Amino acid sequence: MNLILFGPPGAGKGTQAKRLVEQRGMVQLSTGDMLRAAIASGSELGQKVKGVLDRGDLVTDEIVIALIEERLPEAEAAGGAIFDGFPRTVAQAQALDVMLAKRGQKIDSVVRLEVDEPALIERITKRYAEQGRSDDNPETFVNRLARYNADTAPLLPYYREQGKLVEVDGMGAVEAVAASIDATLTVVA
Ligand code: ADP
Repeated sequence: MNLILFGPPGAGKGTQAKRLVEQRGMVQLSTGDMLRAAIASGSELGQKVKGVLDRGDLVTDEIVIALIEERLPEAEAAGGAIFDGFPRTVAQAQALDVMLAKRGQKIDSVVRLEVDEPALIERITKRYAEQGRSDDNPETFVNRLARYNADTAPLLPYYREQGKLVEVDGMGAVEAVAASIDATLTVVA
């Protein structure tokens, strides 16, 4: 099963993806984690994207599509991928559909975690205080939310038209959100 966890920054995609990995043995494919790893390693790619992440802008479709493509065989061997933070543009979603189709695969479900903006801001302010992730600072976070609304939210009709979109209330406790996600996956599996 291939699943997309979808939602604005701070919606809880990473938290839920990690839980699904533990419970189902799937592979989490987080482009944000891959980009941060590239930055930490000091690689050429890392140097190229550091400023983009620091501003809260999106890196190019070409870069993230290549990062994902590299990891598809591993996810396939594990029985499925949880895409977290990818796709973020319609072009990325189209490329993902093509890459999966070439491998005889598809996206089975797109789980949208719905969290309102005041709650997102509250969560990220707390995470910034606790963890100090540089792009969680208030100015950058406002830009990440703006990018989500402008570039990523248009994916909702894309997946709704394909009949793949399921909506989950992401405002509750981690365990409550987990239970809601699991309930939608029982229907898919
Ligand atoms: P969050 O979901 O909390 O915003 P991520 O870890 O998914 O955080 O992403 C962090 C940053 O990495 C984004 O703000 C963006 O700069 C970059 N990034 C991650 N995934 C993508 C993507 N699919 N396309 C473009 N840029 C991306």
